[in-house]
Amino acid sequence: MTKSAIICGGGISGLTAGIYLGRMGWDVTVCEKDAELRTAGAGLNLWPNGIRVLEKIGLRPALEKTGVFLDQYRTFSSEGELIAVEDVKGWRETYGAPLYGVHRRHLSKMLSDALGRHNLRLGHEVASVQQDDAGAVCTFGNGETIRGDVVLGADGVASAVRNSLFGPQEFSADERVRWRGLFNVADVHADPKTEVEVWGTDGHFGYLPMGGGKAYWFAAADGVTQNVEEVTGFFGGWHGSAVPAIIAATNTSTIIRNGLRDFVRPLKNWSKGRVTLAGDAAHPVLPGMAQGANQALEDVDVLCQCLGSYDGVESALAAYESVRIAQVAPVVKGSRALFDFEGQNEVAKGNKNPLFDRYHRLAERRVI
Ligand SMILES: Cc1cc2nc3c(=O)[nH]c(=O)nc-3n(C[C@H](O)[C@H](O)[C@H](O)COP(=O)(O)OP(=O)(O)OC[C@H]3O[C@@H](n4cnc5c(N)ncnc54)[C@H](O)[C@@H]3O)c2cc1C
Repeated sequence: MTKSAIICGGGISGLTAGIYLGRMGWDVTVCEKDAELRTAGAGLNLWPNGIRVLEKIGLRPALEKTGVFLDQYRTFSSEGELIAVEDVKGWRETYGAPLYGVHRRHLSKMLSDALGRHNLRLGHEVASVQQDDAGAVCTFGNGETIRGDVVLGADGVASAVRNSLFGPQEFSADERVRWRGLFNVADVHADPKTEVEVWGTDGHFGYLPMGGGKAYWFAAADGVTQNVEEVTGFFGGWHGSAVPAIIAATNTSTIIRNGLRDFVRPLKNWSKGRVTLAGDAAHPVLPGMAQGANQALEDVDVLCQCLGSYDGVESALAAYESVRIAQVAPVVKGSRALFDFEGQNEVAKGNKNPLFDRYHRLAERRVI
C-alpha cells in the first residue's frame, strides 16, 4: 500500500523532503502557512554536502539553470591583503559537488516546480499534530485536518510541530545580527564565479554571485545592529578592500537585517512516534558556517533513507534522529564560534580562513 507523508512547511527542507519521498513512491502533501512560497530574502550559499542531496534526487540540471557553481573562494583582510585562495571547483572530485550560489526566491521556485503544484497546499498553517496507532493527523488554522503515515515538521525556527511535540524551547538571549544586500556583479567588476570573504578586527563581510549577473553580500560586526546607515558607514570604511565599492553599488532598499538565535540546549529528541522534525525546526543554527540549509538537506537525505529501509515508521524515525542529532551538534557549535569572531584570531595567526578546516572535517564524513 502507498505510504503517505504530511510535510509542514514549504521551505528548503519541506520542499526537498516532498520531492525525495515523492520519488520513492510516497503520497506527499506539503503544507505551507503562507499564501505564496518564500519570495523575500537574499541569496544562499549551498555547499557540497547540501548540493549532493539535491543532485541525488535528479536536480542537477535545474540547479545549473537556477544559480551558479563557483570556482574559487578568496579570503582577504579588511586592508585588502589576500589571505587564502581555495579551489572549490575541484570539490566535485573531492566532495562530489562544488560550492553554489543562488537567489532564495529562485531556489524556492525550482524546488516547488520539481515537487509539483498538486502536492503543495498553500495557506495551510499547521496548528497541532495528534497521532494514534494507525497514523498522525495535522490540524490546520483553517479547521482542515489531514492524516498521513508520517508527519514531518519542516516549519522553521518557530516550529508549531516542535511545540506540539516538545513544548516551547529556550532560545539564546543574545541576539546576533546579520545584514545582507544585493548588487550587480558588473558594477564592481567582480568575478562571476568567485566567492569572497573579508575579515576585519571586529567584523566580517562576504559576497557571492548567484547567477544572472546578480550577487549578494552578508555582513556582521560588533555594535552594527540597528540600522542601514551603521552598516554602510562601518563597511564603507574598509578602504583597500573591495567592500566600500560593493556597499556603494548596493541599492539600500535591498539591505535586510536578520536577528538570529539558536537554542540554549539542543533538543534531546526530534521525534515522537510518527512525527519528526527537520531543518531549523529541529536545530536553529547561526549562519557562521553557512550550513543551516545544507544541514536541513542532510536531514532530509537521512530521513528518507531511513523511511525507505525500515519496515516501521517509528523505527525509521528513531534511526534518523540517532544519526542526525550527533552529526548536527558540532555544526551548530562551530557556527556560533565563527559568528562570534573567534575566527578572527585564527585569521591573524594562521593566515587562513578558519571556515575551511571546519568545512573539510565536516565534508569528509558522509551521511549514512
Ligand atoms: C541571514 C541568514 C543567512 C543564511 N545563510 C545561509 C547560507 O548561506 N547557507 C545555508 O545553508 N543556510 C543559511 N541560512 C540558514 C537557512 O536559511 C536555514 O537554515 C534554512 O532556510 C532552513 O530551512 P527550513 O526549511 O528548515 O526552514 P525555513 O526555510 O524557515 O522554512 C520553513 C517554512 O515553514 C513555513 N511555516 C512556518 N510555520 C508554519 C506552520 N505553522 N505551518 C505551515 N508552514 C509553516 C514557513 O513559512 C517557511 O516557508 C541563513 C539564515 C539566515 C537568517
